[in-house]
Amino acid sequence: MIHNIFSVSGGKDSTATLLFGQALETQNMSGVFADTGNEHQQTYDYVDYLEQATGIEIRRVKADFSEQIARKKERINTKWREKGISDYIVDRAISILVPSGNPYLDLCLWKGRFPSSQAQFCTQELKVFPIIEQVFFPITDKGDIVWSWQGVRRDESLNRRYVPEFEDMGGGIFNYRPIAKWPALATFEAMAYMGIKPNPLYSQGNDRVGCMPCINCSKKELHNIAARYPDAIDRIFEWESLVSMASKRGSATFFCATNDPTVKADNLIEYQTHGIRRMVEWSKTMRGGRKLDLFGIKDGSTECASSYGLCE
Ligand code: SF4
Repeated sequence: MIHNIFSVSGGKDSTATLLFGQALETQNMSGVFADTGNEHQQTYDYVDYLEQATGIEIRRVKADFSEQIARKKERINTKWREKGISDYIVDRAISILVPSGNPYLDLCLWKGRFPSSQAQFCTQELKVFPIIEQVFFPITDKGDIVWSWQGVRRDESLNRRYVPEFEDMGGGIFNYRPIAKWPALATFEAMAYMGIKPNPLYSQGNDRVGCMPCINCSKKELHNIAARYPDAIDRIFEWESLVSMASKRGSATFFCATNDPTVKADNLIEYQTHGIRRMVEWSKTMRGGRKLDLFGIKDGSTECASSYGLCE
């Protein structure tokens, strides 16, 4: 038996793929949403809406890092002490290593750092593994087949330029990317055709939907997030202090601080001085961070700023 499982992120590409599958009257179809714990509330609400509006069941899955955190605690208590790391840092790390139930925070507590574009372990740990382990394997273990429908488009990025439309992953799992050749606007056309609203985050100036913020977000996106959703910045600020306590060097920043051109090689990089709040200030500047962007987004702006022409 073939199970058609659609990965749903709340973004335009996965939504268009789900609607495309529905328009084809695909049999035995269902969705899966991997909750990273770092999404905006509007995305959670949108997934609820999508499920209700399409009538397609969307299963929610979450990664759980309790075991990894428990093992790390053991390691810190023995190895860190053996390496001569101060009792203060060891005791502080042990006290903070309690699973919060938020997958993103727990992943970073376990790793003692945030992911980065060079070490992008978040996608695998928070999205790919939970979907494969919690949804696909129970199906293939019974001898059934999974078609994994994925909303991936080739013009999204250089990395995705040659992504195949169909791939045999082995073990009874096949990846299918039916919108690989679509341009971005076609995804909104598909939603309009099927009478489905896009995630409202697009009309609020976000070019993509996913973690808020994503470690790969641009300067402009960070500026927009800080202006419109200051709670998201406050959450990351709090996480920086917690993850710093779980890190051997006592500091962990959400964004790689050396991406900030105003940081000099000899600067001491600490989360208190080079964390998310500093990056937000930098996002408001022009010309390498030396001049304020007087024409940028005003704090608290609620105007439509979609770069997909979604103003109505
Ligand atoms: S959206 Fe960004 S931060 Fe979130 S899992 Fe994907 S790459 Fe990582």
